[in-house]
Amino acid sequence: MGRALVIGAGGVGNVTVKKMAQVPEVFTDICLASRTLSKCEKIQKDIEKQYKRKIKIAQVDADKVDELVKLIKSFKPDIVVNLALPYQDLTIMDACVETGVHYLDTANYEPPDKPIFEYKWQWAYDDKFKKKKITAILGCGFDPGVTNVFCAYAQKHLYDEIKTIDILDCNAGSHGYPFATNFNPEINIREVTQKVKHWKKGKWIESPPILDPKSIHFTFNFPVVGKRECYMLFHEELESLVKNIKGLERIRFWMTFSDNYLTHLRVLHNLGLTRHEEIEVEGQRVVPLKVLKALLPDPASLGKNYKGKTVIGCIFDGIKNGKRKKVYIYNVCDHEEAYKEVQSQAISYTTGVPAMIGAMMVLKGIWNKPGVWNIEQLDPDPFMEALPKYGLPWQKVPFRGKLPD
Ligand code: NDP
Repeated sequence: MGRALVIGAGGVGNVTVKKMAQVPEVFTDICLASRTLSKCEKIQKDIEKQYKRKIKIAQVDADKVDELVKLIKSFKPDIVVNLALPYQDLTIMDACVETGVHYLDTANYEPPDKPIFEYKWQWAYDDKFKKKKITAILGCGFDPGVTNVFCAYAQKHLYDEIKTIDILDCNAGSHGYPFATNFNPEINIREVTQKVKHWKKGKWIESPPILDPKSIHFTFNFPVVGKRECYMLFHEELESLVKNIKGLERIRFWMTFSDNYLTHLRVLHNLGLTRHEEIEVEGQRVVPLKVLKALLPDPASLGKNYKGKTVIGCIFDGIKNGKRKKVYIYNVCDHEEAYKEVQSQAISYTTGVPAMIGAMMVLKGIWNKPGVWNIEQLDPDPFMEALPKYGLPWQKVPFRGKLPD
């Protein structure tokens, strides 16, 4: 049915390509390209062994539009799936526009020198994609991604009016290292050390970052894994959901952190190792955060000893047929099961599977709509149907617990 070019052979890329290899009737030809060819070779070998399929691989610097255009012209994909870093979003979108190929990613563009989490740079491509009659799907991992689809589903089927949404992201797993991040350390630490904000009654409200003693947190009793401490965080999907979920009065994002994680991060932060500005060390220019990234375990290597589960989902409060109703939609994913299937921990798994499903939606013509889209703007039903089929079952239950006001 279609040819997919995946860029980025990291933790998430490994999962997406293996899941694509499991669906040959949709992904007839796959090419995995990345900066370091040896990482592509490893995944290529795994796929040949596990699925008896041959995929193509290539070396590419995705910061360079001309290299991307050359690769796209030689492989001729129907879709480019960007699983490199948020820094490469715009160059890859440029290459897609130049060659007339669909685009999908899992994280919004960030300027390398400043962690700013806004869609404005990518939304600005809407006209270019429309003119070329090609589709760009933004943020198609788990959060953003599946959480946006849960919101679209709630808006379409469960509510006349959604008043509040709380997105709760819990990783109750343990990888056995004193400190590690579950996806790219540089991107992860930029995200969790930023200023926090949530949206209430038409305004963004700022609050202290998670390392501040005044950060906002509460204990939530999660299904399956029990009580965990949740910290308020800003997350990119809030920006698009505020625009696309009509009548919304408040939306917040919460992530669980252990005391161990926060203590390590606080020390690293206080020492200046989470800084993204260049410093000079004995005549060499270095970025402390990149040094830290080089020292920390590669998230793609965490899977082997990871135990426990992730629980990620959305709690809705709103009105249906004149009655107030609270619903919780969530997925539980097991680190060990993910490793058994695709040699990955559950964070990469819960990101890589939706990226494959999103690409499938485009190749099947279901989400094939010229322009740049956040996924809550597209029909959630076929995606919700595909989630359990490809490894991410979801539950929908009445919510009777309590959230902070
Ligand atoms: P990794 O660091 O494991 O993988 C990124 C890969 O991209 C690496 O193989 C890296 O190459 C490659 N890469 C980086 N720069 C370039 C470049 N200029 N040209 C070509 N290849 C490049 O990250 P993850 O797999 O953990 O994350 C991938 C993406 O998924 C990130 O954007 C992250 O933010 C996003 N994400 C989204 C989530 C969601 O739920 N929406 C959750 C988790 C992650 P090299 O090996 O040489 O460094």
